[in-house]
Amino acid sequence: METKLRELKGRLAEVFDLNMANALLGWDQSTYMPPGGAEARGRQMSTIGTIAHQKATDEEIGTLLEDLRPYEQSLPADADDAALIRVARRGYEQLVRVPSDLIGEIYAHGAASYDAWVKARPANDFAAVRPYLERSLELSRRLANCFPGYQHIADPLIDINDYGMRAESVRAIFAELRAELVPLVQTICAQPPADDSCLRRGFSEAQQLAFGERIIRAFGYDYSRGRQDKTHHPFMTKFSLGDVRITTRVREDNLSEALFSTLHESGHAMYEQGIERSFEGTPLANGTSAGVHESQSRLWENQVGRSQSMWQHFYPQLQAEFPAQLADVSLDRFYRAINKVQRSLIRTDADEVTYNLHVMLRFDLELALLEGSLEIRDLPEAWNARYLSDLGIAPPSDSDGVMQDVHWYGGMIGGGFQGYTIGNILSAQFFATARAAHPEIDAEISQGTFGTLHKWLRENIYRHGSKFTTDELVQRVTGGPLSIAPYMAYLRQKYGELYQI
Ligand code: ZN
Repeated sequence: METKLRELKGRLAEVFDLNMANALLGWDQSTYMPPGGAEARGRQMSTIGTIAHQKATDEEIGTLLEDLRPYEQSLPADADDAALIRVARRGYEQLVRVPSDLIGEIYAHGAASYDAWVKARPANDFAAVRPYLERSLELSRRLANCFPGYQHIADPLIDINDYGMRAESVRAIFAELRAELVPLVQTICAQPPADDSCLRRGFSEAQQLAFGERIIRAFGYDYSRGRQDKTHHPFMTKFSLGDVRITTRVREDNLSEALFSTLHESGHAMYEQGIERSFEGTPLANGTSAGVHESQSRLWENQVGRSQSMWQHFYPQLQAEFPAQLADVSLDRFYRAINKVQRSLIRTDADEVTYNLHVMLRFDLELALLEGSLEIRDLPEAWNARYLSDLGIAPPSDSDGVMQDVHWYGGMIGGGFQGYTIGNILSAQFFATARAAHPEIDAEISQGTFGTLHKWLRENIYRHGSKFTTDELVQRVTGGPLSIAPYMAYLRQKYGELYQI
């Protein structure tokens, strides 16, 4: 059995390495690659993706997984080896249903589509990306149809990112949340808006980057196993557990942009950096789902990063860094500015109260596209109509509407958006559990130290990687299933105080 397990791990490590090499090409494409590299890069990523897929679906892996079944069953379910075999089998059974050439097409198309979006967005040229989106939709449908027997065509795509969830279960959670969120948004937006002009006074790029770095070092992001670079649309990526990188974009006329995207991506990165090192090279060396991953970024960005306690410590330092811009701005005014709630157009800039409305409407649009009840050519109009009905505003251009971010332009449509809202819900559920276990966390945060919180997250969430499913992890950590109650309680308390409602 030991020989067979070693053989399995060796084969899985090859696949892992190829995927990580592809991630490096993707990181380069989004950061430093000159435009002339786009075409060949698409081909290169497609080549490597195809080889990785061939290796991952080699029949020998299937045989090894079968041979190892008695060994797996002899172990406790939460033993590392049992989890490795279980998670590897799940991945294998998923991948063998997808033909290698489809994977290659998705990679090649994704690179070309991304390139088209980068050019089309500043030009407000939806017509230029329309054929790419049509192809993305076709490829996404083909991928979903590799998994026949679904209830909804989005189910297989959701399952890839958030194992165990379906369109129906996500809709149920969203309906419950929406019923509580919409009246809260209406009450808040009936109040005079917070004044956030202090965030738009002109802040040098280098100082912004340095300040963000100071905070995430304090959070516990390990720079000896990471780095930060600039990009169009911030993301986290990893090439091994020893090299977990983040990216950001800086606007000198908007202090929030780089700062909060940095805190956000550091949360994703600390999750990956905290995974048990012995999982390296195996399918366990990943966060367990999109939703749990997003809970970790949101926890640091919002629960911690937009808290009054954290800025009690960091705001005097920020004022010292930018005296001309912030000397006359009180902590209270700054705290209100970074928590301004407003109906807005751009999801990634949205405050934490209205954010989920953006996610829900995009989830619905994705389902409609996949079902075939909405055509790509009608997407901008449908987008604008939903923004008007859900958020009360319509985008003046497609650049700030349907082309606002990279999603849908990376080659796939569907299966990705639910994770953002699941993440918000879980961020509050996990944070409430950590604070209940360690009431000293609040006082530590107000002193700019995060050791107790980071250690709790590492022990309870990070180190397990993909060993437990989302449902298992939530149950293990919080003692109950996913619940919107802690999230709504958090929003009501924080914004109740801010807006005296
Ligand atoms: Zn994220």
